[in-house]
Amino acid sequence: MIELKLPAEMIKRVEKLYSEMEKEYDKVAQELDFSCQGCPDNCCDSYFLHHTYLEWCYLWMGFRELPKEKQEEILDRAQRYIIAADKALHNDERPQIMCPLNENGLCIVYKHRLMVCRTHGVPASITRPDGKKLQFPGCFRCQELQQDYSLDSMVERTPLLRQLAMLENELLDNKRHLYAKVKLTIAEMLVKGPPRLPQPFCGKGTGLNRVCEG
Ligand code: SF4
Ligand code: SF4
Repeated sequence: MIELKLPAEMIKRVEKLYSEMEKEYDKVAQELDFSCQGCPDNCCDSYFLHHTYLEWCYLWMGFRELPKEKQEEILDRAQRYIIAADKALHNDERPQIMCPLNENGLCIVYKHRLMVCRTHGVPASITRPDGKKLQFPGCFRCQELQQDYSLDSMVERTPLLRQLAMLENELLDNKRHLYAKVKLTIAEMLVKGPPRLPQPFCGKGTGLNRVCEG
């Protein structure tokens, strides 16, 4: 297995996409006069699964910037997170456990947090490939605010998700179908280590040479 790494040019494009997500989020938040300031809740205990090698790689870039001792502390929390989440799921409950990367209410890899972390809160919509439109009302606090506003204020996530899927596909040299699907919590992404791909697909003769390092 060989570690998958993001080429410099792709890092720039991921960061550009994240910045677009933030702009869209800020626009809607402004329209709704919404902010997380003073919220009694902390969404970093929400249970989400993440689906791209791309974001997994980018998260690991941020994790590696932390001091070694801190990394070990976080991995320990991540292991405990996984055990607690499995237990909740086994009991048919949705896990509600603080993300191992949250310290004192703040994200310690803020620049490297994932798409879900950047878009959660304000209302959003997605148009599925079959044309069906799904709407998400936003967090409880935002829903309270919306009673005074029209539902036109929402982030349309479809173009953002499309860009993310395109980047993922490019990273995997348009061979996404050859690799195991990613369906992981942040804790699992940390405990598993950075993403690794089977060597045959990283070896000579494939475009993935440029992104894999032994
Ligand atoms: S990565 Fe950061 S923002 Fe995302 S859930 Fe964890 S602590 Fe919160
Ligand atoms: S997204 Fe909503 S629930 Fe989460 S911290 Fe912000 S205001 Fe609170």
